[in-house]
Amino acid sequence: MIPLTTPVIEADDLEAVREALVSGHLVQGPRVVAFEEAIARRVGAEYAVAMSSCTAALHASMLSIGVRAGDLVIVPAYSFIATANVVELCGAQPIFVDIRADTFTMDPERLAASLDSHMAVSREHPRVRAVVPVHAFGQLADMDAILSVAGRYEVPVIEDAACALGARFRGRHAGTLGTIGCFSFHPRKAITTGEGGVAVTPDPEIAQRLRALRNHGLDPASQSRDYIMPGLNYRMTEIQAALGLSQLRKLDRLVVARKKLAERYDALCSKTGLRPPVTLDHTEPVYQSYVVLLPGRQPALYSDLPALIQDRGVEVTLAAQHMPMTRYFRERYGYEPGDFPVADSICERSLSLPLYQGLTPSEQEYVVDTTVDCLSQLADAMPKLSGT
Ligand SMILES: *Cc1c(COP(=O)(O)O)cnc(C)c1O
Repeated sequence: MIPLTTPVIEADDLEAVREALVSGHLVQGPRVVAFEEAIARRVGAEYAVAMSSCTAALHASMLSIGVRAGDLVIVPAYSFIATANVVELCGAQPIFVDIRADTFTMDPERLAASLDSHMAVSREHPRVRAVVPVHAFGQLADMDAILSVAGRYEVPVIEDAACALGARFRGRHAGTLGTIGCFSFHPRKAITTGEGGVAVTPDPEIAQRLRALRNHGLDPASQSRDYIMPGLNYRMTEIQAALGLSQLRKLDRLVVARKKLAERYDALCSKTGLRPPVTLDHTEPVYQSYVVLLPGRQPALYSDLPALIQDRGVEVTLAAQHMPMTRYFRERYGYEPGDFPVADSICERSLSLPLYQGLTPSEQEYVVDTTVDCLSQLADAMPKLSGT
């Protein structure tokens, strides 16, 4: 089986974890501090606050800027479900906007329309408290437009950069373009700490609140052990941080390796009906996943495709979630097919192909050939299935 992905764990990673374990200091110690400093340096951020996951970092980020009941937070319709869940868990309402069909990221025109309607209404109408663009699969959202539209209303931008560590926009690092940026170190991302995440920010007060929020509300600025707000336990362990430090040293190498694999996939896909991801001008993406768009003929049949391809020894998956069409959000807010037409179409047709260091050219060829083959097999079966 060619797996979807596999983390890169080498001798130095094992040694780093062993050292952390024998140090006797397992949680929130010197390795976490060193990891935060290394991340901040790497992405050019003022402050970095490590947490137990990117979901934790996103949740704490919402709380740190005061998102609460009655607030609205604008998110793209298409992302990993955590982007919307953390808003809902603050008692606020995620306002979904449709995505661009080429990059799978938030459509700035839809964002502008949404902000205009929600900010203009009336004094009593709940305020939009944040805008959360997602750098989907490591492709940058259209940040010039998003920052300018959000800036018109002075709404903070929180980047869900879970997949985008190492990506750049006009030379600046993804995650450092707005008020807060959050990265993930889940094993599905380029570098991993098992579970883990970090929030970066240029704002010292937000950084202090993030530090308090991850540690039960303990005042990070004082020795007095006083609690300045209700907080959570979102701390990172020393074991995770040790692994993060050794993984971070591989980031450049892994980004280059994944880019090379993506370019090979681009070339292979160009001879097929599979449409490779689109990269915006002035951006340097990273490839957390390589997601292709299937030809738009019979999306209803594409749900059978992953299993068919898997039977031939290639692990693939439909790429991300159409969040407003998941059961909870659909039932709570009454969304229907057609409310987000681009996400409707992209969600059914986007397929994530295997991508990891060590994937060989002949394996990549097999992945693309098999995908194309299974697609035509489905297309042939189509008339029979539809009874014509
Ligand atoms: C992976 C991911 C997350 C969640 O990260 P965890 O570290 O697993 O909590 C959030 N948003 C996006 C877009 C992701 O891809």
